[in-house]
Amino acid sequence: MAVPRLSVVIPMYNEEAVLPLLVSRLRPVLDGLGRTYEVVAVDDGSRDATAAMVTLMRAKWPELRLIRLRRNSGHQAAITAGLHRSRGDHVVTLDADLQDPPEAIAEMLGLAEAQSLDIVYGVRGDRASDTAFKRGTADLYYRLMRHIVGNRMPSGAGDFRLLSRAMVDALCSLPEQAPVYRLLVPWLGFPSGQVVYTREKRAAGTSKYPLAKMINLTVDSIVSFTAAPLRLGIWLGGLGALACAVAAVKVLVAYAQGAVVPGWTSLSLVVLFLGAAQLICLGLLGEYVGRIYRGIQARPGYFVGEDSLAEDRRADGRPEPDFHDEPVRPRRAAVSADAHLRRPG
Ligand code: UDP
Ligand code: MG
Repeated sequence: MAVPRLSVVIPMYNEEAVLPLLVSRLRPVLDGLGRTYEVVAVDDGSRDATAAMVTLMRAKWPELRLIRLRRNSGHQAAITAGLHRSRGDHVVTLDADLQDPPEAIAEMLGLAEAQSLDIVYGVRGDRASDTAFKRGTADLYYRLMRHIVGNRMPSGAGDFRLLSRAMVDALCSLPEQAPVYRLLVPWLGFPSGQVVYTREKRAAGTSKYPLAKMINLTVDSIVSFTAAPLRLGIWLGGLGALACAVAAVKVLVAYAQGAVVPGWTSLSLVVLFLGAAQLICLGLLGEYVGRIYRGIQARPGYFVGEDSLAEDRRADGRPEPDFHDEPVRPRRAAVSADAHLRRPG
């Protein structure tokens, strides 16, 4: 198969329930675009039959490609794997659960080509199908993120979007350890447009985003884009110093009046407050230090166990294509360790 013009990257984690519905809705849309395409199904270490089902479906749908990650690496890492290995001039990322309508892909492509845009965001116009809790937390998340990244980030833009090849190459060249695409994409500043759609209910199966993963995504989003939380320590310290000055006067006056025995409550409060403030600041510092540590370790966010494209090529006796993630990373230590040997003179 020649290099496809469009890639559709779909991260999948235990999505066997929704897979047949997804295929039956996605395929007519893509076949109707009148251009070559590939569907990159990234199996994110599913423990159900997702990968086996995709393999079976490939017999009838040659444009379907399976990339299996060796273990569950998370939604954003699965998208990274798909982006790194996609080949199209345009790449659409889409959730597997049909909450984002595949029909919008045609409109996204049309808009990108008509206005030469590098990004077309799918923006959720109506989230009535989400729970009140999901809507409330999402609203808070977007407000915070727009504050951090600026208004370039459209409110309500999730991971359903179309990117140009130039944009995908730019994203793949970033050294991010834990990329959060909904922030990185607007941050790069490429020309963008949006297509508004109605967010539907998950077609089948259950959400793969429990509260813990939502919190992780939020922490990753904040810590990877701003060091402002570290200033909390300075503010709390300043506040503490101010309170201390006031309290010192009070304590000295009380001492002069001989009224020094009561005060257990205030003492406990001060100790507890300072202890909590210090632990919060330490925890915040830990988040950043942890990220520096992971950055230095430079371990890849995912490992590909299987790529049906590479296997098809091998079977045909053709060379495997080069992907952004191969070799995974230059071996920095090895290069610098023997650099002196190769220095001329
Ligand atoms: N997903 C993934 N790895 C994970 C969690 C989720 O690849 O560890 C995929 C999942 O299969 C789906 C997409 O990410 O295609 C979004 O997940 P989900 O729809 O469950 O999230 P929600 O819409 O509930 O926020
Ligand atoms: Mg979903």
